[in-house]
Amino acid sequence: MRLSLLSLSILPFLYAPLAIAEQRPELAQNIQNVMPKVIDWRRDIHQHPELSNREFRTAAKVAAHLEQLGLEVRTGIAHTGVVGILKGAKPGPVVALRADMDALPVTEQTGLPFASKVVSEFNGQQTGVMHACGHDAHVAMLMGAAEVLSQQQAELAGTIMFIFQPAEEGPPAGEEGGAKMMLAEGLFANPTPTAIFGLHVWPGEPGQLLVKTEGIMAAADSFQITVKGKQVHGSSPWRGIDPINVTGQLINAINLIPARQIDVTLAPAVVSFGQVHGGIRWNIIPDDVKLEGTIRTFDSGMREDLIARMAHTSEHIAKASGAEAHFHVHNFAAVTWNDPALTDWAMPSLKWAAAANGVAPIKPITGAEDFSFYQQQIPGVFFFLGISPDNTPLNEVPPNHSPMFDVNEDALITGVRALTGLALDYLAAPPQQAAQEVK
Ligand SMILES: [Zn+2]
Ligand SMILES: [Zn+2]
Repeated sequence: MRLSLLSLSILPFLYAPLAIAEQRPELAQNIQNVMPKVIDWRRDIHQHPELSNREFRTAAKVAAHLEQLGLEVRTGIAHTGVVGILKGAKPGPVVALRADMDALPVTEQTGLPFASKVVSEFNGQQTGVMHACGHDAHVAMLMGAAEVLSQQQAELAGTIMFIFQPAEEGPPAGEEGGAKMMLAEGLFANPTPTAIFGLHVWPGEPGQLLVKTEGIMAAADSFQITVKGKQVHGSSPWRGIDPINVTGQLINAINLIPARQIDVTLAPAVVSFGQVHGGIRWNIIPDDVKLEGTIRTFDSGMREDLIARMAHTSEHIAKASGAEAHFHVHNFAAVTWNDPALTDWAMPSLKWAAAANGVAPIKPITGAEDFSFYQQQIPGVFFFLGISPDNTPLNEVPPNHSPMFDVNEDALITGVRALTGLALDYLAAPPQQAAQEVK
């Protein structure tokens, strides 16, 4: 009885969109065939990393590849962004796949034969440049997926948009860039995709896919507080207003907000101070103190509430000492929000892609992604691909942004399979269509 009830309860899943990719044995072979190129591309891009908004060589390489595949290619979007449009022979839905292209101001220490020796300028300073976040692998995997999908053009019913995005790590000071700027320049205007998928390489079992529904990565905000006092000799604080003492109280009070005033059962929230600047000499109480920090949240209502409480607390603590506090917030990324229906829909495709490596759940990550801005426009799913070295305990794997960060190239085939499979399955049976079939 228990067994038959169980089989009844899983019945709808049997009717959920089967990974169409599974029914195309030649697809797995085509993906296998493109992998040596994917690895070559990844190594070449790794050796020639470019900082945010400076991805000129990478963009040219991508554009040349997409043109050679016969795609419609658009360049120069949000500075260096490249978009390839693959129109299937038959009409159908539009789906977008996204890879980010930029590297980081990090001096590589991996000792790999194709390690970066590039030095560049970042915000006025000379620095080594490295693909320490694995965006080299993202570009190479999406180039591979574009090649395999273009081979299917005659059978495709619909359109696939390949987005190669600059400046995911954030544009240099004083510049715009990234997903927000691509959208502002009309990325989704023509054609308009109805879903977007993207992935990130991550320390995890090689070839395993990691996903979660709803908030998978945090919204990231920076905040600045200026505490304005009144400068005075350190020997007679009563003649002025001491902004350093106010700052001491303020840091404690703000750190207590997530712990005492936020419903921690709803979603995590993090507030961290990163800079405190004030004063010039041991016996002068300065006129003001400037503080900066970051806020990470997974729920838009909680984010607004937390920001309002931080502003309120700053103002009132300053007031109690006769000082003033000016509070400002700047948003870098929204919550990377995986649409629940689309995430459910994507599971068979992801399972096909990961095969024996499997699909595993992942906890919310307090890092942020500007992929979230695409998900504010259309439903999207962002997931992670495990790329740790074989037989290495995960706590010993250098994390993203480390000068020792490396990608297990054997895992990249899972990423190409995921991107290819999701696009093919979406064109064959997008979620609403699949739901009608269930009825
Ligand atoms: Zn990164
Ligand atoms: Zn990244």
